[in-house]
Amino acid sequence: MSNITIIGGGLVGSLLAIFLARRGHAVRVYERRPDPRRTDVYAGRSINLVVSHRGWTALRAAGVEQAVKAITVPVHARLTHDREGHLNRVPYSIDNRAIWSVSRGELNRRLLNEAEKLPNVKLFFDHRCLDVDLENATCDLDHNGDKVQVKADVVFGADGAFSAVRSRMMLGRFTYGQEYIEHDYKEVAFPANPDGTPKMDPHCLHIWPRRWFMLMGLANLDGGFTGTLFMPHHATAQSPGFDTVQGEEAVRRFFAEQFPDVEPLVPDVVEQYLRNPQSSLVIIRCDPWQVNGRVALVGDAAHAIVPFYGEGMNAGYEDCKVLNDLLNEHGDDNWHEVLHRYATARKPNGDAIADLSLRNFVEMRDLVADPRFLLRRRIEGSIQARHPGRWLPLYSQVKFSDIPYADAWREGLRHDRIMEEVLAMDGVVDRWDTDPTVQRAVEEKVLGLL
Ligand SMILES: Cc1cc2nc3c(=O)[nH]c(=O)nc-3n(C[C@H](O)[C@H](O)[C@H](O)COP(=O)(O)OP(=O)(O)OC[C@H]3O[C@@H](n4cnc5c(N)ncnc54)[C@H](O)[C@@H]3O)c2cc1C
Repeated sequence: MSNITIIGGGLVGSLLAIFLARRGHAVRVYERRPDPRRTDVYAGRSINLVVSHRGWTALRAAGVEQAVKAITVPVHARLTHDREGHLNRVPYSIDNRAIWSVSRGELNRRLLNEAEKLPNVKLFFDHRCLDVDLENATCDLDHNGDKVQVKADVVFGADGAFSAVRSRMMLGRFTYGQEYIEHDYKEVAFPANPDGTPKMDPHCLHIWPRRWFMLMGLANLDGGFTGTLFMPHHATAQSPGFDTVQGEEAVRRFFAEQFPDVEPLVPDVVEQYLRNPQSSLVIIRCDPWQVNGRVALVGDAAHAIVPFYGEGMNAGYEDCKVLNDLLNEHGDDNWHEVLHRYATARKPNGDAIADLSLRNFVEMRDLVADPRFLLRRRIEGSIQARHPGRWLPLYSQVKFSDIPYADAWREGLRHDRIMEEVLAMDGVVDRWDTDPTVQRAVEEKVLGLL
């Protein structure tokens, strides 16, 4: 049994606490913010995210799958809205598989409750980590102006994209990269009907793709949706930006021109846009993820990514599951081996999901409205249906499987090359949907190239 300090009691820190406490370790979690079960640290905002296959695999292994399932809404398809209000529904998989929308605050509260039920977990709120002694696994914390020092056998930094634990690691031999993407985001709440029913299909992820920017909407349990507008920080020749869409008149015009079907759903959309904060999106890559077998990073502290695959938290949950598996394999007192293997195994996957997430942004804001892309999707679906063991589309590999992200990324690039050749074949673009001869030729070509 080891004494474990976890810095950060957010989405990943709270799950890691459950995993480690169930193994018998004494776990102390130090969280900078007040207890979210007593104070509304999310300031009334309805921020939500999706849990997908990897997240569920980890939640199940930690014994909290049912506790979380109860607060989710299944989402089976993307539904795109064009400027004229036409809708196009594209299922996420040929077998109607779902991703699951959940409120960030509700999920965090649930996991903290589950962690607190375990007698060997202690939660400390309003404790900000200031520094970590990497040799001795000792943390210096600030608690309402008082200095607190905590010694442990192992420290986990689950303190998010701007991790204090990582900051100390950076003073040693450490590789670090931080990249802000050009797009920022702003959230807008879509209300439910007065009787609590949703105004749009809650089982779809709604997307208003506008090539260089996009709005998306994800259902909440209360019948409302959280809308997120992703748009460049600075306007360009092709696209408006947050710096130009400013002031009541400009914002009203922007929504009327770009998202005419949104204003009837969200009558105060202009007021919300003007009131709600604008946030940036950062990608963080670093190496190594552990030092001395005593201090390790998990979740966004190790791999902050852009949110376009909805995998940041899911990847963090997979970190926890991999750690748990390695403890099963190598024993609970062999931290040196376990943390070394954890960091070596996870780092390439952290890099891969960072790349995959950027790629999915292009797909969401642009390609989902592109007929050629939609045709490719139909062809892939048909090949998968006829040869399920031989073709699993990239999206399914990422969202509905445990295939390591790095392998999925490599396989996805191979699929791109194959589908380029397929789309260049005679008759495919014009007749694939209607001509069985073209369909047979495509199938033979794909199977030959696989
Ligand atoms: C707009 C948006 C949408 C997203 N959608 C999805 C999605 O659909 N699916 C998905 O899987 N992921 C999604 N993500 C990513 C997801 O939010 C993150 O990957 C996830 O929150 C990471 O969890 P974490 O616990 O590692 O970090 P965080 O959630 O950032 O938690 C870190 C915790 O550490 C605390 N902390 C920070 N510094 C200190 C300190 N010095 N001392 C003590 N405590 C500290 C913080 O207060 C916080 O509670 C989205 C992200 C964004 C921005």
